[in-house]
Amino acid sequence: MSRGSIEREKVKNAIDKGKAEAMKEEINYIKFRSTYKGIERGTVIAPGRKIIWGFPHIKRIFTLEKGLKKNIKEKIIFIEEKIDGSNIRIAKIKGRIYAFSRGGFLDYFATEKSRGLGLEKFFEEHPKYVLCGEMIGNTPYTKPTKKFDVKLLVFDIDDGHGNYLPCEMKYELLKKYNINSVPVLGKFSADNFKEINKLVRHINRARKEGIVIKSEGRLDVAKYVNTNADIDDIKNCVHLYFDMPFGFFNQRVIRSSFFIRDYNLDREKYAKELGSAYINGLIKALDIVSSGRDIEEEFEILVNDVNIWEKIRKHTGKEVKLTIIWKRKEGKKTRIRFTKTYLETTRKLRSYLNGKGITD
Ligand code: ATP
Repeated sequence: MSRGSIEREKVKNAIDKGKAEAMKEEINYIKFRSTYKGIERGTVIAPGRKIIWGFPHIKRIFTLEKGLKKNIKEKIIFIEEKIDGSNIRIAKIKGRIYAFSRGGFLDYFATEKSRGLGLEKFFEEHPKYVLCGEMIGNTPYTKPTKKFDVKLLVFDIDDGHGNYLPCEMKYELLKKYNINSVPVLGKFSADNFKEINKLVRHINRARKEGIVIKSEGRLDVAKYVNTNADIDDIKNCVHLYFDMPFGFFNQRVIRSSFFIRDYNLDREKYAKELGSAYINGLIKALDIVSSGRDIEEEFEILVNDVNIWEKIRKHTGKEVKLTIIWKRKEGKKTRIRFTKTYLETTRKLRSYLNGKGITD
């Protein structure tokens, strides 16, 4: 299904209604702030009227077998690992490589990193294509690591018209140009539940986030996450309680319940783990705030252009404060270690600890 072109009139109406916005950055472009008349949020119209289509939501299934039957129509599927990183789209615009965030911002950090990934040949030979992937590692949004700097794991290639390439064609292209793909966990007949369930159990045990199921033609897609990842998310994020999206924690409790029941896992063990992730995480947050500290997390980036720091600051919401811990030169590059302080959670927990009463 091609998403085709976008008429000028539609763009003008979207801007008038506040659904799209003209951006003046290193390049001028239009960004769709929210979905408008079939145009996905995050869609970008770049110079030369090049469209970088917003990456659509992927349906979540809560139970595998019925979920697959209802949502995947093709007979052959590919299962990919679901990677928890920062979603970016990379395109060649007027001869240069640029990366955009899910929301359609020109991401200067990801742009600098993408330009160093050896993607030139791919874009030379496929200038219309857009790489959709997760960036992980030492980025402003993901857990820092000492093992590598950043990695781009591509999960889809948009042909430039909003169509994603069929799975095998995508895997071959990525291989040909030496571009990392998300791990491909296998090719299955869509009704081979015995093997698919085996894989899901394995993914849960390995504490990976989950799977994305794609029909071979990439027409149907669904995501399915597992209980260990849900519990890990609660454990890793509960101290940011009031800064997390509404429903974040409840969603994970619901998903876990389905998974534990479907895979006949030890209910008591998981109930204990989930409860402990929730309660101990929150109590730890209370301990931090009551000792006078703020709720914060550390990140690290290594950049050629130090001005990127200001761009990151500009795109960080008001409820998060950025503070540099240290900054050091590494050859021509600069490494910056910084914290994000989560103001709303800190403020609320502090006021409750100080005895504030609320009407609920
Ligand atoms: P939504 O699907 O509604 O946009 P979301 O933005 O909250 O949800 P997730 O629930 O994490 O994101 O799931 C979808 C996202 O998973 C995709 O937008 C993409 O960034 C990411 N992702 C990770 N691995 C893959 C993969 N193998 N295939 C497709 N997407 C993947």
